[in-house]
Amino acid sequence: MFCPKCGKEDVELFKCLCKSCFIEEFRLISLPDKIEFTICVKCGSTLKRGKWKNPGLPEEEIIYNVVSDAITVDDLVENLDIGVEIITIRGSIFECIVHASGTVMGETIKQEYAVEVKKNKTICPDCSKYDSGYYEAVIQLRADERVPSKDEIETIDGIIIARIKKLSEKNMMAYITNRMVLKEGIDYYVGSYKVALNLVNSIKEVFGGVVKESPKIAGRNKSTGKDLYRIWISLRLAKFHKGDFIEYEGNLGQITGLNGKRIAFKELDSPHTSSVMWRDYDRIKIVAELEDTKNTTVTSKTPRSIQILHPETYQPIDIPIHEGISGIEIGEEVPIVEIEGNLYILKLIFNK
Ligand SMILES: [Zn+2]
Ligand SMILES: [Zn+2]
Repeated sequence: MFCPKCGKEDVELFKCLCKSCFIEEFRLISLPDKIEFTICVKCGSTLKRGKWKNPGLPEEEIIYNVVSDAITVDDLVENLDIGVEIITIRGSIFECIVHASGTVMGETIKQEYAVEVKKNKTICPDCSKYDSGYYEAVIQLRADERVPSKDEIETIDGIIIARIKKLSEKNMMAYITNRMVLKEGIDYYVGSYKVALNLVNSIKEVFGGVVKESPKIAGRNKSTGKDLYRIWISLRLAKFHKGDFIEYEGNLGQITGLNGKRIAFKELDSPHTSSVMWRDYDRIKIVAELEDTKNTTVTSKTPRSIQILHPETYQPIDIPIHEGISGIEIGEEVPIVEIEGNLYILKLIFNK
């Protein structure tokens, strides 16, 4: 066999050429002369196979990705390495050189390819939704039988700002398009329902509360014919606060903490701690507030009872002893609360 290109005889042929002529003619990669990509001028996301992805990448990285995606590599190539160099930029046209190196039949080859990359600018659907004030859900912050306090609103605003900052790194729909101050609370208009749920859970983790969702039809998607829903999520904070006194299932207690799942309280006439799930919130009765606690003095003590002075009438009152208060000594000043005519010595002191 002989090579028709260089004339060498008695050689093995690859696609009708000897090995060195074959390698000389070989192209590591193939790519079009011109490539286009579409970018959102607002967030920098690029459109790839119908999806908007990767907001905020540096331009060199975008060009590199676009060029890499357009390249086809010959099956014979091993250890391919690609570098993209932007030579000149004219408006939205990037003239680039692709530096390719790879191993073919044991030989390392380096090649250069010229390519023109064109940038098409537009606004992605998420950004145009944001611009038009689009929202999928409204968080209605309320409180039961009262309005949310200034402190609660301030803390909740802070939670929302921090969560949005974190979530918006990955989710373009993580934004608040409107915050409405109403007589009964605050309404937050949220880009996506998923984000709204995430925000509600973060608030609930700190304040607890009862969550209710009500979807309302907000229109119809013209292309699919399906109804579009907007979801109102109401988060109702409890009527009570930490330190207040409640009755639940015949137990009296002082609230020690609220979280996303339950309300914890210390029982008033035993050393025990109990809790109630939020779904049973309606069965909780508030019997006194933290502001109703008073201080008084222990006047005597027996193995069965502790005697204190009623803070207003100064009458001596005997309180049955239990483990939670058994360590109290005569002469000590103790916090107490009066509920339905009975006095209870408190084991925990909260700031009023
Ligand atoms: Zn040859
Ligand atoms: Zn965008």
